[in-house]
Amino acid sequence: MWYLLQRTGRSFTGRKPDRRISVPAKGCLTAVFLSVILLQSGCFARQAQPLLTATDYKLNTIVSIQIYDSTDESLLSGALAVCDGYELLLSRTNPDSELYRLNHAASLAPLRDYPVSDDLYELLHTSLSYSGLTEGAFDITIGPVSSLWDFQTETPSVPDPDLIREKLSLVGYDRVTLQDHAVSLSQKGMAFDLGASAKGYIADRIRDYLVQNGVKHAVISLGGNVLCIGPRPDGGPFRIGVRKPFGAPDDASLLLSVADRSVVTTGIYERYFEQDDLLYHHIINPHTGYPYDNGIASVTVVAGHSTDADLLSTACFALGAEDGLALIDSLPDTEAVWLMTDGSVLYSGGFKAYLTHN
Ligand code: ADP
Ligand code: MG
Repeated sequence: MWYLLQRTGRSFTGRKPDRRISVPAKGCLTAVFLSVILLQSGCFARQAQPLLTATDYKLNTIVSIQIYDSTDESLLSGALAVCDGYELLLSRTNPDSELYRLNHAASLAPLRDYPVSDDLYELLHTSLSYSGLTEGAFDITIGPVSSLWDFQTETPSVPDPDLIREKLSLVGYDRVTLQDHAVSLSQKGMAFDLGASAKGYIADRIRDYLVQNGVKHAVISLGGNVLCIGPRPDGGPFRIGVRKPFGAPDDASLLLSVADRSVVTTGIYERYFEQDDLLYHHIINPHTGYPYDNGIASVTVVAGHSTDADLLSTACFALGAEDGLALIDSLPDTEAVWLMTDGSVLYSGGFKAYLTHN
């Protein structure tokens, strides 16, 4: 079959991946969604301990803020409030969010110059540029199709093929116009999906808030979307683990040394289910409506901004390893690593500088 998907990760584990990974109960503060991990002192005795830590369930995932150079607890509540504010802007499922209202308006009629906030406009603009860069392999109008794939339900299943075909006709980033802080969508029923960039954008905004308030050493983690502010207080890099696909949440395939950078992973083991011995994950091919099957288990991007790292990790997955590698190598100050389902590892030109040697 043309959409035959990755068989269940046997090349990594020698066994089927633990099904519990696919359907964690909401609100359960396990680390199952973490794709990149901040390694604590259990792994590295020299890793400094944060002075302040907050962990919460937001954005449908685990959010954690660690501050290393302040004991002012109002910074934590302030950072979490920033997160809440942006969730209300960018949530695809909360009927009160700006993005939801925009998509709802588009479900009723084509959009003509629909005004949006500065933040939503900026994120749509940046995200759309990656759709152009990938010629639609990464498409922010995948909403009508991606919403058919429900990975959160207790009993996920492959959507009706006729419905997939029907909704595919509503996907097309070239039918979006952004001008003067207003959005136009040429077809009724189109919908944006910013699932590949919202967390990165929010991490950047939390960083802005903390830096404006004097923080110089901190780590923001939104479901494994990790942003480091500065190095550790002693000047050394933060240690970040890239998760082993289908491994335990704290099982790292690679250890990275990172300062002042974001590290973001997209992987087939983050949101998936199995049906008839096939694995269906959450990165959807806009040409077929089914998950990409390209031999990639995960892509991890290291970049200066979390929005870019988040977008690029998903875009590089969508492009496939060869084109993704070419894209990363064409970008300044941006590196990536691909863990393939056959166990091989591909690095962009300068990635090895981030690998931890000890
Ligand atoms: P997460 O960290 O939440 O797993 P990712 O950054 O890995 O998110 O991006 C995956 C999300 O991107 C999907 O859950 C979906 O919302 C969206 N998506 C899926 N396929 C595509 C695609 N081809 N183009 C753009 N966005 C996509
Ligand atoms: Mg992403």
